[in-house]
This record gives sequence, structure tokens and C-alpha cells, in this order.
Amino acid sequence: MIPTFRNGSLVCSTLLAAGPLLAAPSVTPGFNATDAGFKFDKVDPPALNDAAAKGTFSIIDGDRDRNSADLSALNDGKVPNSADQPQSNFFFAMNTDGGRLGLDLGSLTAVKSIGTYSWHGGGRGPQVYSVYGANGKAKDFNASPTRGTDPRSCGWELIAEVDTRPKSGKGEGQHGVEIANRGGRALGNYQHLLFDIQRTSPDDAHGNTFFSEIDVIDARGPEIERIKPPEKIVKNYKSADGKYRYIIDSSKAPALTEWCEKELLPTIEEWYPKLVEMLPSDGYRAPDVVIFEFRDDMGGTPAYAAGNKISMSAPWFPGQLQREAKGCVVHEMGHVVQNYWRARQTNRNPKPTPGWITEGICDYIRWFLFEPESQGAHVRNVNQARYDASYRVSANFLDWVCTEKDKDLFKKLNAAAREGRYEEKLWKEWTGSTLEELSEGWKKDVEKGKR
Ligand SMILES: [Zn+2]
Repeated sequence: MIPTFRNGSLVCSTLLAAGPLLAAPSVTPGFNATDAGFKFDKVDPPALNDAAAKGTFSIIDGDRDRNSADLSALNDGKVPNSADQPQSNFFFAMNTDGGRLGLDLGSLTAVKSIGTYSWHGGGRGPQVYSVYGANGKAKDFNASPTRGTDPRSCGWELIAEVDTRPKSGKGEGQHGVEIANRGGRALGNYQHLLFDIQRTSPDDAHGNTFFSEIDVIDARGPEIERIKPPEKIVKNYKSADGKYRYIIDSSKAPALTEWCEKELLPTIEEWYPKLVEMLPSDGYRAPDVVIFEFRDDMGGTPAYAAGNKISMSAPWFPGQLQREAKGCVVHEMGHVVQNYWRARQTNRNPKPTPGWITEGICDYIRWFLFEPESQGAHVRNVNQARYDASYRVSANFLDWVCTEKDKDLFKKLNAAAREGRYEEKLWKEWTGSTLEELSEGWKKDVEKGKR
């Protein structure tokens, strides 16, 4: 008799902000990186002190992908914390159809249950495999039967067949499987397990499952400890005048929670309304809810804004608390207020705003109004003094024009950009000089070391 297996597929979606748990096979496309932790309805999270943790995995057939972690990822008790972490998962090579994994438990074990866990934001989430068990005592026992050999012909018995693929869709998300007998009777006495793993789609070269952890629970083993899903830390603040709401999600950077409340929040409360006031345009209302979220999957990007949400790099911020952290958030709040993608809705023929203006305005506010004492936008290399060099250099140019010609110039620039009507000739209209003439005047001051 084949035991039952419980399939706890967790599929996350950015549409479902609260991250409800959905049972397969109802599949919601998309992915929500904040829902790490392999928390399922009916399947427990991965175990830390199970029998597989002391066992030895081996590849019996097939090849490890060169981007895969080594086999220890399967029993190290560590799981990935986002949907595309090849270095935290074991998976078979591209262009191959899975393979066979062996697990030697070291001694005969009353196997109560087997748990397998995987996670991917695409088609490598679901699991498709057969698992066999052996006590290793059969006369014809072969510990490493390759694909051409039916394990049942050499001392193995089939324990279960698993397939967590949804009826439709790719099944992106976290998958967890528990194989156990109803009523708790052990699956059998085994020293060896064999996983015959297939890829999730015959025509997907990248279809090999990202296996995060494999557990074997010993019926006579210690009480099982399991990984704890990361705690959600989301704080909600209302501005004193009730106009704005700020949501700070430090779940991915718990150590920064206190800094956020004591240090960052006062900066947000002072500067968000200031930015709104500084960057007006006719009929425009800036977002009144701003979300600040730490993330750990941003690569080398310290922070970015999209709509009313600011993503902040959890690994980058801790080293910057006394340096660039607050200024960086002020810059990103500038983008939330700018809202330049709005031009497409309000203007039938919006003119694109050059990136150096978008970034230059945010860096101008940051370096010349928020933290002028840091002198962070001083032009150190004269050869880099190009007005459109973006960020700090463009900020320096904007500050020069605001100082020399019109202190409100950046406001005019912002309104034109937001309304999709920025053109180079506006500089002449506003200042009496062309952009090139302004640039020449600015460069002279840069050369004199005044900038
Ligand atoms: Zn920016």
C-alpha cells in the first residue's frame, strides 16, 4: 500500500498583500518575497534535528547544475529566504531530466515520515519524484541503481510517488511535501532512501526543481525542532496633522526596527511633507501613504522607489546608518513625490523627462537642502563636470542654476517634468540662457574649485 502524502503548496502573490496560504492546486501567479519560512496549512516547516541532518546525500545518477548549491543544502537546516536563490538549493543540471539522489541514514531507522521542500518563483517550484527505501540487507541489494535499473529489482521498495504540479500554471512559490502513514505508523525500517527526481516540464531546459531541504523523521528520534518563519515587523505611523501615513516593514532587517522608529521616522515625518510642498504642480496631489520596506534580494542596489513604495536593501543599510542611510531615503521620497510616470495619464503627448533631471532633482534636494553640511555633491573631478552626468553632478549643476539664476528653478523643472512638457528650450525661457550657456558658466566655477 502506498502511503498518503500531504502537499502543502504555498503560492504567493503580490496581489495578496496579506499573504494568505493557498492550497494547491489553486495557483495565483506572482510572488511575494516577504513570505519566507515554508509556512504551510498542513505541512510542518523543515526540521532541524531530523535523521537526514546526520545522513549523507549522494548523486546516484544525473549531474548537479553548476549554479546549484552542493548536496549539503539538502540537510543543513537552512532554507532560502527568497524565490530565486540557486546557492541555497540543490538542483540537477540544465537540459537534463532530473536524476537520482541517494540518502544514507547511517543505520537502520524507523522512518516515520519524509519531508521535501522547494521554492522557486517560476517553474522550478513543484516537485515530481518517486522515493524508495531499503534496509540494505537484501542479497541482491544495489545501493546505487542508475536510471536504467528499477530499484525494486535490487532490494528497494517504493514508498511514494509525489507530484505537486498544479493543473494549470507553473506552480511558482514554496512547495512542501510530507509523506507519512495515516495514524502515524512508520513508513518502514530503512537505512537507505532513493529519490528518483524528474524535471517539472519535459520541454523546459530549466525545469529542474530547486530543492531546499529534505527531512527524514525517525519514529524513535528526539522531539523535532523546526525552522521558525521570520517574524513580520510592520509599523504604521500617522503624521501629526493626520494627512500622511507611513508604513515601515523591517521584517527583513529586524535589527534596524529601533533605528527606523527613533532615527528614520523623524526624518520621514519632517521631510516627506516638505518634499510635497517643494514639488507642487497644478492639481497634483502626492501619495498620502508611503511604504518603506527592507528587502534582501536587491543585489547591489541600495534603494529604489516605485509608486508609493520605497524598497531598501537590508544588507546595505546597517553599514550606512551614520552615513548615507537617511539621505538615501530622502532621495527616494523625492521620487515618490515626483510621480513622473503620471505624465502618461495627464498628457496625451507627454515628452520624456531625461533621467539626469529626475535624479538630479532628488539629489539636489538631498545634498543641498537636506544635508548640505556633508558636501556630498562637491565636484571633485573637473573632467566629470557634465550637467547631464546625473545624480550628484547634475544636482551640483541644478544648485548652481538655482543660486545664480532662480532659486525656484527646480520647482519649475519638476512641474514641467511631471506634466510631460519638459523641453530644453525651457531653460532659456526661465533663465535667459540656454542649457549650454548655463553649463559653461557652471563649469567655470567648477574649474575654480567653487563647486
Ligand atoms: Zn533616484
